Amino acid sequence: MGVSSQNSSSKQKKMDPTGYDASTSFIDPRISTELYQEGRVLHNVKLEELPNFAELKSEVEKFVDRMSWWESYGIDTCIHVFGCVGAVASFFFMRSESIPVFAFGVFLLGCCHSILALKGGHLATHGAVCRSRPLNRLQSFFFSDVCGTFPSDSSHTIHVKEHHAYTNIIGIGDSSTWKVPIVPAYLYMFVTPFLIPVITPFVAIITVWGQWFSLLRFLVLASLGLLINFMLFMKVSGFGFPGAVLMTLLCRGVLSVPYIHVNIFQHIGLPMFTREKLPKKLYQMSTGVLNLSRNAVLDYCFGHSIISCHIEHHLFPRLSDQQCLAVKTLVRRFLKENGMAYNEATYTDRLMVFLRRYKQLMVNAPPISHFVGIQ
Ligand SMILES: [Zn+2]
Repeated sequence: MGVSSQNSSSKQKKMDPTGYDASTSFIDPRISTELYQEGRVLHNVKLEELPNFAELKSEVEKFVDRMSWWESYGIDTCIHVFGCVGAVASFFFMRSESIPVFAFGVFLLGCCHSILALKGGHLATHGAVCRSRPLNRLQSFFFSDVCGTFPSDSSHTIHVKEHHAYTNIIGIGDSSTWKVPIVPAYLYMFVTPFLIPVITPFVAIITVWGQWFSLLRFLVLASLGLLINFMLFMKVSGFGFPGAVLMTLLCRGVLSVPYIHVNIFQHIGLPMFTREKLPKKLYQMSTGVLNLSRNAVLDYCFGHSIISCHIEHHLFPRLSDQQCLAVKTLVRRFLKENGMAYNEATYTDRLMVFLRRYKQLMVNAPPISHFVGIQ
């Protein structure tokens, strides 16, 4: 017997002292009741009422088994191929003297780079690009090291082993690495993201420093990617070397603002737990993850699993983007029918919440919760 606690209660949630958005999260009282006590809210979780994750897992697996290769991996593969073809085409657009055509080339390369480095890199890190493990590994080197200038080994450690295994667990997978408390809200939300392409290679080297083989492999693959990129800028678009470097940074910054936004919108402000008292996986993911509404650009540049199917992705990280999208209705219905939270919000809603409550969410320490649960 026991309780789980969090710094909010039904009443306090409406006041939102921690940034927890009560309007986007609701758990049926038969599963969990909340009690405000000494500055914290205790979540009394009735374990026997919690739905069985194995039941949902079995339903999802049966559904995915019925999907064809095309439905599961073919569509995503086409999007990745478009990322390659579009990237090459964009260098030709950028040789134009017409400003709209040139600007389209910059936007196209920015989007295609995200398709490869973020969507492709993310799926490959999870082994969700195709069924074959070696092919996934090979593609993770291409998407992450070559296109994204970031070591796939580090992506796996930071994203899969930490963020996914310890979603919203304070100090491990709680998204606090995205916080830069000294930077004012508007600067952080709209200006500093453009520094991401500049700092990425340096952060990348730090993450594999000391693992000399991984570092060497990363340096070879990343240099190859940058070299091809610079050569295309110089030989096709007609830039000199300094221009090629600046254009690379500009194009890679095209979607860096939504990239930062998405990373903080989907976890920060939702319940956070401690490692000592890990919540049940279904409770952890249902309360600690949020789906953004669908968005034509971000769905394809970042992938469904990062945008509108983030809850499904956290529950079933080996599913491809298309598989996540296909099982979304099933997961949503299961969680809602069983009284669990299913957090959804629009991009604009989350943006407004973060701008209004930047200090609460991005500067102050996150609230601490304990999951024990009542038997
Ligand atoms: Zn992931």
